[in-house]
Amino acid sequence: KLELVDAKKWINLFVEKVQANKANLNELDTAIGDGDHGTNMDRGMNAIKDSFAKKDPENVADLYKATAFAMIQKVGGASGPLYGTAFLDMSKAVKAENIELADLIQVGTDGIKRRGQSDVGMKTMINIWQPVSDALKNDAFDQKVIDSALENVKELVATKGRASYLEEKSKGHIDPGAQSSAYLFESLLEVLG
Ligand code: ADP
Ligand code: MG
Ligand code: MG
Repeated sequence: KLELVDAKKWINLFVEKVQANKANLNELDTAIGDGDHGTNMDRGMNAIKDSFAKKDPENVADLYKATAFAMIQKVGGASGPLYGTAFLDMSKAVKAENIELADLIQVGTDGIKRRGQSDVGMKTMINIWQPVSDALKNDAFDQKVIDSALENVKELVATKGRASYLEEKSKGHIDPGAQSSAYLFESLLEVLG
C-alpha cells in the first residue's frame, strides 16, 4: 500500500521524468503519431504542479483525483482522458476500500482499457500497465519488467490510436504512451526502493 507521502513522491517523480524527457516523447510520437505526446504530457505535468501548489492533497484519494483532473483538463489528445480515467478510478478505489498496490494498478489499467476500448497487444500504454500490475501481484516488480515490456511493445503492430494508421510500419518503434507509462512506473519503483 502506498501512503500519502510515498504517493506524493511517486507523482512528483513522474512529473520530473516526463518533463525531463519531453523531447524524447515528442520524437517517439513523431515516428508513429503526430509528434505531440511530450508536449501534451508536459502541459499536464505543469497542471499537476499548479494543482498541488494551490492545494496540497490531504489524502491519497485527493492526490489521485487532482492528478486525474489535471491530466483530463490539460494533456488533451488520446492520452489525457486515458491517464485521467486511470487516476480517477484509482482515486475512487482508494476511497472505497483498503486496496493493495497491485490491485490499485489493476484498477487503473482496467480504467484505460474501458475508456480506450483497448487491451494488451495493441501497442499502447496498456502494454506497460498490465505487465506492471501482474508483476506487482506476483511480488516481482522490478526494472526488468518495465524494460522487457518496452522491448515487447516495440515489436507489436499498433491496432489502436494514431499509430494504427501505419499498420505494419508501426513495428520497430516504441509507443510514446508506453514510454510515458514506463516513466510513471520507474517513478513508482524509486519510491518502493
Ligand atoms: P494523440 O494520439 O491524440 O496525439 P497522444 O500523442 O498524447 O495523443 O497519446 C498517444 C498515446 O495514447 C499512444 O502512444 C498510446 O499509448 C495511447 N493510446 C491512444 N489510443 C489508445 C487507446 N484506445 N487505448 C489505450 N491507449 C491509447
Ligand atoms: Mg500524439
Ligand atoms: Mg495529438
